[in-house]
Amino acid sequence: MPYEVSIHKCDSYDDPKVSKAIEASLAPLGGLESVVKATDRVLIKLNLLSAKPPEAAVTTHPAIVRATIKLVQELGATPVVGDSPGGGSTLASYKTLLEKTGIRQVVEDTGCELVRFDDATLQVASDKAKTFKNLTLAKAITEADVIIGLPKLKTHSLTYYTGAVKLHYGYIPGVSKVEYHLHTAQDINLFADLLLDLHVTFPPALTIMDAIVGMEGDGPSNGNPRKIGLLLASKSCTALDYVAVTIAGFDPMSVPTVKMAQERGIGPARLEDIELFGEQVEPLIMRDFEKPSTAPTRVPQFLLNSFKRVFAVKPVVNASKCIRCAECFRDCPPKAITFTKAAGPKIDYGKCIRCYCCQELCPEGAITVSSTPMMRRLIKRMPGT
Ligand code: SF4
Ligand code: SF4
Repeated sequence: MPYEVSIHKCDSYDDPKVSKAIEASLAPLGGLESVVKATDRVLIKLNLLSAKPPEAAVTTHPAIVRATIKLVQELGATPVVGDSPGGGSTLASYKTLLEKTGIRQVVEDTGCELVRFDDATLQVASDKAKTFKNLTLAKAITEADVIIGLPKLKTHSLTYYTGAVKLHYGYIPGVSKVEYHLHTAQDINLFADLLLDLHVTFPPALTIMDAIVGMEGDGPSNGNPRKIGLLLASKSCTALDYVAVTIAGFDPMSVPTVKMAQERGIGPARLEDIELFGEQVEPLIMRDFEKPSTAPTRVPQFLLNSFKRVFAVKPVVNASKCIRCAECFRDCPPKAITFTKAAGPKIDYGKCIRCYCCQELCPEGAITVSSTPMMRRLIKRMPGT
């Protein structure tokens, strides 16, 4: 069987428990030594979406990062941690983010090297890519001998779920993400293909998913933390995502990255295609896991694309929560948001491409995704949803 996924229970972020669960997860996959040599520079790619504390469940928990760094160091290899946050970063904002997410302390305690993906970029030609043959990427990605991904299991308003494959969007530095969103966000399958292009161009040798506390609802930054109590590991991002979305109660083929991976022949079509180690999937499935407002699980994609406009699923600003920081205005790919300090942000729905970057990046959770009663009624009537 080409795909293997290891699932282990872990009920807290207590350091010894996390270390034990990670080691138990990696053992049936051949251990870390099956992918890392002592001479390797090992890039540990985190999810550092925004400056939120670990308990907000937005970013990879520092306990997972600490345990992974230590395992790499025990093999004599050189670990490096980093990411490009959503909307990009300056030196100062990255410093704040590292402090708030608990990663600065981990870096200090372990002596691990730190990179900021937005520091240096380059153009990489990819003959494996379907969407863009030249990709603007963080230089740090290209300098690694081995990449280990540490995603978090969360919902996502645009892609419905963010996990192992979606983690690769951070390969694209800072403001370049806005450009890629602009060219792909109106077709979710095209965006999923871009994520898979990043994946096949620089695939991680190993992915360890933080699903101890994940996020449900309108993720990836403003949903609700959800205790799941699991660590998942795999050498295949696509298989790991298949298992994670199944546990989260999605129809796997309703998740664009899972569906497009299967269509490209780089992901499983059925759970039976995956060899599981540790826990079995069926008893872990969370049938009450809250999906994002944008994700009617079994509505056909062509209908969903139409209904985005016709039935007005849209981002809405809650003026009482807005602190007038203008982050949404700066990050909106098609410049559909106008902003003045006095009036705050105003969205032109005629220009809005429903990428939900504004909802994702608003530091105050002041932008929500709204679907109309008509859309909700329609979704309820769709068979199997
Ligand atoms: S990002 Fe959020 S808080 Fe900042 S201006 Fe936009 S809505 Fe207001
Ligand atoms: S208003 Fe929000 S959802 Fe619409 S295009 Fe701009 S960032 Fe995307």
